Amino acid sequence: MRCYCVTSHGQPLELKHQEVPQPQGTEVLVRVKAAGLCHSDLHIWEGYYDLGGGKKLSLADRGIKLPLTLSHEICGEVVAAGPDAGPVQTGMAAIVHPWIGCGACPACVRGEENLCIKPQSLGVMRNGGFADYVIVPHPRYLVDLGGLDPVKAAPLACAGVTTYSAIRKFGERIHEAPVVVIGAGGLGLMAIEVLKALGGKGAIVVDIDAAKREAALKEGALAAIDARAPDAATQIAEAAGGGARAVLDLVGATSTVTLALDSCARGGHVVIVGLMGGDITLALPIIPMRPLRIEGSYVGTLPELRELVSLMRDGKIRPAPVSPRPLDEVNEALQALHHGKVVGRQVLVP
Ligand SMILES: [Zn+2]
Ligand SMILES: [Zn+2]
Repeated sequence: MRCYCVTSHGQPLELKHQEVPQPQGTEVLVRVKAAGLCHSDLHIWEGYYDLGGGKKLSLADRGIKLPLTLSHEICGEVVAAGPDAGPVQTGMAAIVHPWIGCGACPACVRGEENLCIKPQSLGVMRNGGFADYVIVPHPRYLVDLGGLDPVKAAPLACAGVTTYSAIRKFGERIHEAPVVVIGAGGLGLMAIEVLKALGGKGAIVVDIDAAKREAALKEGALAAIDARAPDAATQIAEAAGGGARAVLDLVGATSTVTLALDSCARGGHVVIVGLMGGDITLALPIIPMRPLRIEGSYVGTLPELRELVSLMRDGKIRPAPVSPRPLDEVNEALQALHHGKVVGRQVLVP
């Protein structure tokens, strides 16, 4: 089988030909039908996250070892299972939950495997979907696609569940006030869909790109504000009816987090998802006095992915735009993403 691996950070993914792996123990072998290319694949490929002030978080320090097959947004068909996997329906089309933990630590026991301290995530710590086949450690990580198009559904495993999990953190607030969504790329459009599906008040979208603001309005955003306007924070606060109650920052840069905090009403809640990087200086008394809630959100849980897939199966969430490409164009796809030339999620098809 083919797999495209990171063998050296920043260098083109290397095509390797390997034996199709045989599932052992509880493992399941999945034939890949679609594998999405995520912005975090770029970080893994580059080998670091920007912490601001010239500091970097190296992925080697997080235990990521090369060579590694990228892609954590995988849909495929179950073709074989190990002897301890229990009853497994071969031929089933499934999306794979990639945020796999050790299964034993307190986070895993709570069902928050995405917060495990010894993660086994596919396409990050273990080989992922830019290949003809992928090994999944247990059949419970497979979510039945039930007729959904694998190419359109693949981004749910990261882009979708990340957005969904972050919006769920606002709880009842989504019914009380519009959510300010910073970043109108793929995740931003998904956020508008999720808010509609959950019966929220809607989204006020903020972006520097006029075309993306336009796309967000077409998608049903209540308002679209230019993040670079000198009075952007005032405009957001006014559109939100006297300060934002809930701000979702899908960019996570110095400028966007600053804007999020400046736009908040008293008691505002900011959830940061984006990993663009940087740092901020914050006067600490502001946090208790206003009082603000600043929370991070990292991907999502298996139950959240199941909820999201069932919302799409019920037609309550429309798939985000995707650009399918053959698997052997993965390096071109990576370059296009690196240079910001991508409209819709690129999904590689073996
Ligand atoms: Zn991702
Ligand atoms: Zn764990």
